[in-house]
Amino acid sequence: MPSNEAPDAPRFPPVNLAEIDLGRITANYRAVERAAGGAGMLPVLKANAYGHGLIPVARHLEALEPAGMAVAFLEEGALLRDAGVSCPILVMGGIDVDQIPHFIAYDLTITASSVEKLREVDKAAGKLGATARLHLKIDTGMGRIGMRPDTAPAMFEAGLAAEHVEVEAVYSHFATADCADPEQTRRQLESFHRAVSFYSARGVTTPKLHIANSGAILQHPESRLDLVRPGILLYGHYPADSDQAPRTIRVSPALTWKSRVVYFKVQPAGCPVGYGAAWTPDRDTRVITVPVGYGHGYFRALSDRGEVIVGGHRRPIAGRVCMDQLMVDIGPDGEAYNGDEVVLIGSQGEASITADELARWAGTITYEVLTNINTRVERRYIGAGTTS
Ligand SMILES: *Cc1c(COP(=O)(O)O)cnc(C)c1O
Repeated sequence: MPSNEAPDAPRFPPVNLAEIDLGRITANYRAVERAAGGAGMLPVLKANAYGHGLIPVARHLEALEPAGMAVAFLEEGALLRDAGVSCPILVMGGIDVDQIPHFIAYDLTITASSVEKLREVDKAAGKLGATARLHLKIDTGMGRIGMRPDTAPAMFEAGLAAEHVEVEAVYSHFATADCADPEQTRRQLESFHRAVSFYSARGVTTPKLHIANSGAILQHPESRLDLVRPGILLYGHYPADSDQAPRTIRVSPALTWKSRVVYFKVQPAGCPVGYGAAWTPDRDTRVITVPVGYGHGYFRALSDRGEVIVGGHRRPIAGRVCMDQLMVDIGPDGEAYNGDEVVLIGSQGEASITADELARWAGTITYEVLTNINTRVERRYIGAGTTS
């Protein structure tokens, strides 16, 4: 049985905490699974499970019995195996030839994206007396890795001829599945089907097929095929605004980021705050200091634009975000005490701030806000053991 115990308890009372509600991840997973209509689940855990913590999220998801899990790199797959995760693990990134024996030793499913790479895998597996698991990648329009549909048959043939590999699946990736215009997605899906018709034409069994990311799961039901690869939806966020990708599945954010007030002062009118003296109150006001900065992955671009929640109210960041701290203007009558909770992402009382808002303020996407939260922020888990 996978253990859902939290990793090592913090050594000190944390002043900076990302609280992950695994119960929400379960609910999001089940919602996506229902929408996937019988397709197998291949949850995506790359980049530290989108900042939520690779190992605890993987252990939690394993209990939900997905068809497998997907990560981007060998290193991520190896961490999962070292932690005792035993389900199939697909590494989606391009492979470096020197790494192939390690993929095999860790029983990771390799993505082959050329005839040459496939042959290298076959050779390495033969040397080790092993059979390597492979998913073949074709480029139907993302322009990243994979063989184009017109040249892919050579790779399919090589897969049939190889003696030490098992081609379990063929897959591709959408570039615009979260965009309002469906044209490119339709073309990509068509081109994918045309490419893999190789197998039926050849009279051999077609491997499993997968192509759908979160955007496609939301708005292109015909792309769900044998497996789906949801990432951002599992963590409770949408890949794009609702005018781009309709929110046909209800999910809710699993991550709350909070800190505490470490300093309170009355800031006199005309006295600047922070680097560059870039913010100066025009009236006496109250300013708190919060021990969070860009060194934790809180974007410096939020200087003078971001907000946090303290005392149940949204309050503006005053001046520039420092590496380790930021200052907040709570107004002439605002109340806050040292040790009070400050919410950066999440809710407190009636107020809430979403990762989507941080992304908008910083001119980026929700994915980057989440994956940017680094190891300086302690992760804590609630809701372990929930499976429905
Ligand atoms: C990241 C990724 C996904 C998941 O994308 P979401 O938009 O988070 O659902 C699926 N497939 C591949 C190949 C990816 O790189």
